[in-house]
Amino acid sequence: SDHALHYPAAPAAVDWADHFPAFPGRAPEFADIGCGFGGLLIQLAPVFPDTLILGLEIRVQVSQYVQDRISALRVASDGSYQNVSVVRANAMKFLPNYFAKHSLSALFFLFPDPHFKSRKHKARIISPTLLAEYAYVLRPGGIVYTITDVKDLHDWMCTHLTAFPLFEPVDEETLRAEGKGPIVDAVYTSTEEGKKVERNGGQKWLACFRRIDVQ
Ligand code: SAM
Repeated sequence: SDHALHYPAAPAAVDWADHFPAFPGRAPEFADIGCGFGGLLIQLAPVFPDTLILGLEIRVQVSQYVQDRISALRVASDGSYQNVSVVRANAMKFLPNYFAKHSLSALFFLFPDPHFKSRKHKARIISPTLLAEYAYVLRPGGIVYTITDVKDLHDWMCTHLTAFPLFEPVDEETLRAEGKGPIVDAVYTSTEEGKKVERNGGQKWLACFRRIDVQ
């Protein structure tokens, strides 16, 4: 439960230098929600060496594992992986405590928990209420990347994101033409869950959305 967690009162209260000592005065720009074992962070770190990337993971041991993994890579690689880190957090409750308005250019929801039963749909990480928070932390032009092997969840995420006035669908070809191919590739294949789906011969559904600019 959340009571044992200490959350920053506001983004200004977070000392990102603890997470990214090589980047004083900077805040994260990419956030991986429910990062699991950190595969996306590790793959993107060397591809975007000047972009700070944060994973959020609610499970204690899993977030600790990711932290240890990053620390080991920092030591072993002599200067790389300084731009990735992780916090243990319930992203469904405390995202605006970490990220200032329009501070993010990418939000990732990779193979989120499906919560199959309809009485559990409110537990899904994409919901109308939460979309307002995601639109708040994303800057105009920023991208929400979702992928899942559960068709029903894919349809659910597409329906809600499409219906939300601050997001518009953006297809894979467009993202690749904008130079975001390495991100799309990582979304498909970098994470532990994505690799498991591959091993089991499962299908993957990608859906991406752009945070639109409204005056
Ligand atoms: N994204 C990873 C991947 O693709 O391998 C992990 C996918 S796993 C099915 C879903 C992850 O989301 C789990 O690690 C779970 O602990 C985490 N999670 C679920 N609800 C969360 C929440 N409210 N805040 C942060 N993480 C959450």
